[in-house]
Amino acid sequence: MNFENNLAFAKAQDNSDSLRKFRAQFLFPKSKGKDFIYLCGNSLGLQPKVAQDVLKLQLDNWANYAVEGWFEGEEPWMFYHKELKKLMAPLVGASEAEVCPMNTLTVNLHLLMVSFYQPKEKRFKIIMEGGAFPSDQYAIESQVRFHGYDPKEAIIEVFPRAGESILRTEDILAQIKENGEEIALVLFGGINYYTGQWYDMKSITRAGHEIGAVVGFDLAHAAGNVPVKLHDWGVDFACWCSYKYQNSGPGGISGIFVHEKHFNTDLNRFAGWWGYQENKRFKMEKGFIPEAGADGWQVSCTQVMPMALYHASLQIFQSAGSIVPLRNKSITLTAYLEFIINQVNIELGIEQYKIITPQNSADRGAQLSIIAKEKGKEIFDGLVANHILGDWREPDVIRLSPIPLYNSFEDIYLTGKALLEVSKQVLEL
Ligand SMILES: *Cc1c(COP(=O)(O)O)cnc(C)c1O
Repeated sequence: MNFENNLAFAKAQDNSDSLRKFRAQFLFPKSKGKDFIYLCGNSLGLQPKVAQDVLKLQLDNWANYAVEGWFEGEEPWMFYHKELKKLMAPLVGASEAEVCPMNTLTVNLHLLMVSFYQPKEKRFKIIMEGGAFPSDQYAIESQVRFHGYDPKEAIIEVFPRAGESILRTEDILAQIKENGEEIALVLFGGINYYTGQWYDMKSITRAGHEIGAVVGFDLAHAAGNVPVKLHDWGVDFACWCSYKYQNSGPGGISGIFVHEKHFNTDLNRFAGWWGYQENKRFKMEKGFIPEAGADGWQVSCTQVMPMALYHASLQIFQSAGSIVPLRNKSITLTAYLEFIINQVNIELGIEQYKIITPQNSADRGAQLSIIAKEKGKEIFDGLVANHILGDWREPDVIRLSPIPLYNSFEDIYLTGKALLEVSKQVLEL
């Protein structure tokens, strides 16, 4: 598409956007009575307006039914997670049985590694992306130690080549192959939080399986952002948080995926009563028998309040036609942001902004990570003062993520305009 850096063009794009109406379903942060342009949905998605109502409904259920709420009312809590499973499955390319909402992300990463990281003899290593989100690094390090290994020996990190900021798929695949007999687990992010790179999950999965390893993904920045096909790609397990691209609120519930090929196996797991065979759970018998499917990985009873929030936001995804139409808009919206950032460079007459996120839309989601060469933090603060909220990552990266459910082309145009003005001021150009 031929983009133009003017308001009329941006407005025309918005007018022909069939997803445009969804913006009105969200609450935008304000200061001095004016809404922010919100480009930080990669960190915390906006609040759907229905959030208060769905929480109120569950509070009413609690008030009216108390303990009977587990079995009474329109949506008994005992079975509430099933409603979410239906809506989660298409977002990650899974069957209903393969997904389940539970706990929070890092907790689930640990629980799944208990099942899927089974180091033995020579095969004890985990291969992962260098520069993974710190929580994942800590989780992996501590799992490795838990099994009695030294993280320095047991963890292989794949880094970009010197002078490059994103990973080449060929390098990831080569390192998986080279260390083939020693790798127990291939564990990557779907999209890297810092660079915005979407890894070639299908090829990574295939390469991992070819050397006899288990393959898992942390989809924190991918779920609800890009279409993934966990079942078809044969991914063994995955987990994600729902408060970033899926708008379920701070500390929102996490989702897990376990491929059906693992359902009838005797994988080790850290069990709890909620993962027990559902129809016999309340017999309170000795000896753990897991419920079939991903549900068998549950530990504690249903977290009704966070699930109600996730359910409400999943319904918005469903009414938008799930991930495919959103992704189509997202590709264009992010490409427009890229165009606008490059226009700012042109108008400044210097290469002040360098986008490290891959240029190819197949290698990225909504997010662009932009290195600000000079005075980045001052410029970022200037954007905030102009009602534009992205996020800042030390030492020099501004992350901006236009979200197809609630961002517009006009948002992007106005961001470019403000970025140009703020840059001129701060850089004294
Ligand atoms: C956001 C994020 C987390 C956060 O984990 P919580 O357990 O939800 O606090 C973990 N891993 C990755 C890759 C993330 O992007």
